[in-house]
Amino acid sequence: MSDNKVIIVGAGPAGYVAAIRAAQLGAEVSLIEEAQVGGTCLNRGCIPTKSLLASTEALSLIRRAKRLGIEVDGIKPDFTCMMERKNEVVSRVVKGVEYLLKANKVKLVKGKASFLDLHKVEVKTPEGKEKIEGDFTIMATGSKPVLLPFIDFNHPAVLTSERALELTQIPQSLLIVGAGVIGCEFASIFGPLGTQITMVEMMDRILPQEDKRISLMMKQILQKRGINIFTDTRLEEIADYQKDGLTARLDNGEKISAEKMLICVGRSPYTEGLSLENLDLRLDQKGNITVNERMQTSEQRVYAIGDVVGGYLLAHVAFEEGIVAVENALGVDSKIDYTSIPNCIFTSPQIATVGLTLDKARERGIEVKIGRFRFSASGKAQALDETDGFVQLVVEEESGEVLGGQIIGPHAADLVHEIALAIRWELTVDEIGSTVHAHPTLSEAVMEAAKKAQGKPIHMT
Ligand SMILES: Cc1cc2nc3c(=O)[nH]c(=O)nc-3n(C[C@H](O)[C@H](O)[C@H](O)COP(=O)(O)OP(=O)(O)OC[C@H]3O[C@@H](n4cnc5c(N)ncnc54)[C@H](O)[C@@H]3O)c2cc1C
Repeated sequence: MSDNKVIIVGAGPAGYVAAIRAAQLGAEVSLIEEAQVGGTCLNRGCIPTKSLLASTEALSLIRRAKRLGIEVDGIKPDFTCMMERKNEVVSRVVKGVEYLLKANKVKLVKGKASFLDLHKVEVKTPEGKEKIEGDFTIMATGSKPVLLPFIDFNHPAVLTSERALELTQIPQSLLIVGAGVIGCEFASIFGPLGTQITMVEMMDRILPQEDKRISLMMKQILQKRGINIFTDTRLEEIADYQKDGLTARLDNGEKISAEKMLICVGRSPYTEGLSLENLDLRLDQKGNITVNERMQTSEQRVYAIGDVVGGYLLAHVAFEEGIVAVENALGVDSKIDYTSIPNCIFTSPQIATVGLTLDKARERGIEVKIGRFRFSASGKAQALDETDGFVQLVVEEESGEVLGGQIIGPHAADLVHEIALAIRWELTVDEIGSTVHAHPTLSEAVMEAAKKAQGKPIHMT
């Protein structure tokens, strides 16, 4: 065996990055994709949502321009133009990835793959069937939205995140079921467009995975913008489907009528049609493919990466898992490390977290202290007129080592990386606090939070 033929199924962030890295390591790579290169992230996830958010954030900024000393009349969103721009952005980014694959001499096979055995894949292409053999195979088939069984997903009022990105008109009213990351991001897209939004979350707070203070602050911000939020509440049934909407019944007895209903209650691994029964792979209870820290499945020469292995459903995690998998397959020792993965929510203001929260640290029996700095005390945030939020560091009491960080506020998704770097390299608050940060910048908030944890706060009491 030559040991350098790699088959990768799925050209989302996990698969295309794995393909490029494998080619760089000298492998002969076949990358199989049944739809568009770029997967969920580029076509139906990260890029289209962030493109629309850029439009609605601009709209919100223009609306408060008067506070910045600028008079603007006749502000009006052009939804058709916003969607066209979103499509153009997606198309440009997809083309960029196609170019990279070509430049790295990756063989892209368009079609649906199913496994015949550990080394052989059959691909149904538009022209017919093709069999591909490899020394290693990598599953990167991603995830799909969880659908609630009592809902008619064929009804035009019912949306998944994918369909919400294809709307042709701004809905007058929107019921969002599930106030997690995707639900909150869509609330930030449609809220500024004038849609009347109701959110329903079965847990006791929105963004239930986040630090409690952050969940609470985001709830207050969304409510202040007129969004109606029910927590501790389940969608019980659809009482009535109409031609131009539906009426939902919640388990608290409320009835909500809306033009559209967006269901975003989670995602599950996508393995349909792969003929996994031919491989005898270990799966967990949710159907995620089980892997070790080298992204190896229960079959030594089969790897799995990205959303299909569960855990963090994030594009940058998929990128890293792709690199780890092919490096191991091709003889480079490599392990995945999840301790410093940033998790960003592109709401307005943004939320970004990394490492341990206060509660998680305490659950593990670690003695911790907190260093917190509010953006209202930041000169730069004041200048930007974006003073909501804070930076919080979770710090080991004795050593001063940074174990976690939570940010809600302007540009949180960019600021979080300083904390990720600190966690990754076991830095202490002394090391962050004694590093001079430029003034006036939002990054100073991270330094000030470190100084607070050191017991040496300057710009706050
Ligand atoms: C609305 C939304 C917003 C998001 N925003 C962000 C964000 O801002 N930041 C972030 O980090 N993450 C975000 N995500 C998550 C991110 O999109 C995923 O984590 C990422 O796409 C996972 O990459 P993947 O390669 O594992 O899977 P996918 O991107 O789903 O790619 C899998 C690919 O495999 C192909 N495939 C599947 N089965 C077969 C088969 N049998 N044969 C051939 N091809 C097959 C599919 O067509 C697909 O192209 C978002 C997701 C959603 C839904």
